[in-house]
Amino acid sequence: MDLEITGKCALVLGASRGLGMAIAKSLAAEGVTVFAAARSRDKIEAWAKGIENVRPVECDLSDLAQVDALADSLLSEGGADIIVNNGGGPPPGSAQAAERGQWLAHFEAMAANLFHLNTRLLPAMKEKGWGRIISITSSGVEQPIPNLALSNGIRSAVVGWSKTLASEVAGDGITVNVVMPGRIHTQRVDELDAAAAKRTDSDVAEVAAKSRAAIPAGRYGKPEEFADVVTFLASTRASYVTGSRIRIDGGAIKGV
Ligand code: NAD
Repeated sequence: MDLEITGKCALVLGASRGLGMAIAKSLAAEGVTVFAAARSRDKIEAWAKGIENVRPVECDLSDLAQVDALADSLLSEGGADIIVNNGGGPPPGSAQAAERGQWLAHFEAMAANLFHLNTRLLPAMKEKGWGRIISITSSGVEQPIPNLALSNGIRSAVVGWSKTLASEVAGDGITVNVVMPGRIHTQRVDELDAAAAKRTDSDVAEVAAKSRAAIPAGRYGKPEEFADVVTFLASTRASYVTGSRIRIDGGAIKGV
């Protein structure tokens, strides 16, 4: 299937590693020019070596001035046809322990600044009559994950924003969707398993095996499997998919 996105331009946020990196590589392989953004430009430069159509850019999503500078620089080059909203996850913790300051700080980096960036890039997208906005959230927006109050709460705001926007811009040829990773095997997942093993004084391999066993597919997803779905959503061929939440979880979410 020709995805019909050769020559398009994408902004992939949180692209120094993990899911963002896999998506950036996948889009680049389809002939898309990819502005790959993260706090560390060096890390992007390292994986993007030899990939001509990846342009590393520095942007800390918690810093509004950097977010605006990124918007300015993209708009000066014609804007982005595809935006992949992604970034770091917040720390774990219960709803009762989460403090007001934490809610505000993480909401700013994970939601408000992203919404602002998308709002700034939207007029150019609308002018072209074609656009794709894909936000990475978590299975927690459908089945809240215990002890991840900040993530469950803030990512649900991203879902509400995405659905509202989808209806507003559907007539402009722009689709807006949310993808929900279950457990995709990135460095972050290894770090989470290591932290869980330390917390419970158990073996990391045991923790990972238990976590895998809880997934009907019996394994963690591969970043490339995740990126394939996002790349399809970013394509011209996915033109009638909008306002949706798409699970990429090996069947992990229990409800239908
Ligand atoms: P990751 O931690 O490996 O990658 C996150 C990326 O975001 C990195 O490139 C990091 O540098 C960047 N980032 C972090 N803070 C940033 C900031 N302030 N400004 C700009 N960039 C920033 O995580 P991942 O496994 O690739 O997951 C991506 C997102 O999906 C995360 O938010 C994660 O919590 C969420 N998620 C992942 C899974 C999974 O199974 N991997 C499951 C559920 C949710």
